[in-house]
Amino acid sequence: MTQHAPVVPVTLDLREFRRAPRSTDECLALWERLEPAVLTLDPLAGPRVRFDLGDEGEVGVWFLDPATAPRPLGAATRFAIRGVLEPPEIRHACTTCRAARITTYAPYKCPGCDEGQRMGRVCEAHAVFLDGSLRASCPSHTPACRCGTKAVAWCGGPNCRTRKAWCETHLRRHPGDPTVADCEDCYAERFPACEHERCTGSGYIRCEHRTLSAMKPCGRRICTEHARRWQVYGSYNRGLALCTPHHQQLSSTSPEGLIDMILAGTVARSGRGRSATRRRVQLPRISIVRHILINTRRTVLDMEAIDRLFTALEQGLSGRTPRDTNLSTALDLLAGHRASRHEDIERFREQHVEGRGHYDRLLQELRRGGRHELAGAVEFSDFRPRSRILFVRVPEHLQGVFRGKGGSSVRQLEQRVGVKIQVERG
Ligand SMILES: [Zn+2]
Ligand SMILES: [Zn+2]
Ligand SMILES: [Zn+2]
Ligand SMILES: [Zn+2]
Ligand SMILES: [Zn+2]
Ligand SMILES: [Zn+2]
Repeated sequence: MTQHAPVVPVTLDLREFRRAPRSTDECLALWERLEPAVLTLDPLAGPRVRFDLGDEGEVGVWFLDPATAPRPLGAATRFAIRGVLEPPEIRHACTTCRAARITTYAPYKCPGCDEGQRMGRVCEAHAVFLDGSLRASCPSHTPACRCGTKAVAWCGGPNCRTRKAWCETHLRRHPGDPTVADCEDCYAERFPACEHERCTGSGYIRCEHRTLSAMKPCGRRICTEHARRWQVYGSYNRGLALCTPHHQQLSSTSPEGLIDMILAGTVARSGRGRSATRRRVQLPRISIVRHILINTRRTVLDMEAIDRLFTALEQGLSGRTPRDTNLSTALDLLAGHRASRHEDIERFREQHVEGRGHYDRLLQELRRGGRHELAGAVEFSDFRPRSRILFVRVPEHLQGVFRGKGGSSVRQLEQRVGVKIQVERG
């Protein structure tokens, strides 16, 4: 007879148990859950027993001295927990798992989980990854789209740079690669639509139409096929890109308006970037402007007249206040242009004299051939001594006769006069 039932020493193996007790009370509570099952055991039959607690994992009960344990165990049996085997400490534990009192190693960070001093963690099973970035989050901090819906992908576009995530409805798949998507704005930036009706091309070119009083460009997006270049910097430099409406307006714009547009376009180009290596953009020489006016609006002005247009523009601008960067650049460009204008006027006078000589011989040749109507209608336009081209203007209805079959008449005239002859376009 023993007054006191013997104490049965046990060790708890909690290494596979996910809700490790954090205090003595919790440890006792766990034991109370196990005890009814423990009492049915025979310690001699097996000194180490495992209990399956479902989602919580397993708990092992080890009888340290099975031989001394009463048989059978009973309600009066007293147990002593001599030791607890705990799982190795997990430094980066999943915040989501911990809320369910489970400790799991969490390799990823969740920027939304706030753990006081440091960012919370998320385990392999709870980590949510959206397309477009390797950044993780826990299920409750999955980024939301601007519309409030759960996002499905990070936008890698030029505005978002994978810092914003969007839902499926607010994403647009790339035309060539549907596994990549951008938000609407970034998509429009990357694949702008051409302004031309029914064109499916990408409008990578922006209309450069602007005036000095409205320096903000038109900006309409145009594909390479529909963009019109207004060749104001000569045939070897890229002219100003124009949308269809602005290109169509050119022919009805006054010479003053055209020069204003050229100056505004040049101001914008020379202001682009501040790198010392960028090529200095300059206004086209008035010899080119003269041809621009002829080609775009069929207006023939002599060099002095074009020079006066520039001078008047410069005078008008120099009185304007306040003087912002654009205005200063415009005035610098005009000031730098002055010398070349005087050169061109001088050269034009000389060429005019030489060109007039060729022109007079052309008229003589026409008359000698009995082509009096032509001789009375052909007008002198310009002469370029370096390329030895004589530019003439011929009324539209006489141009065919002037050129002759396959250009034969012109070729004959060229031989006789000794210069190339070109009919001014427009
Ligand atoms: Zn977890
Ligand atoms: Zn989180
Ligand atoms: Zn975006
Ligand atoms: Zn959305
Ligand atoms: Zn187009
Ligand atoms: Zn435009």
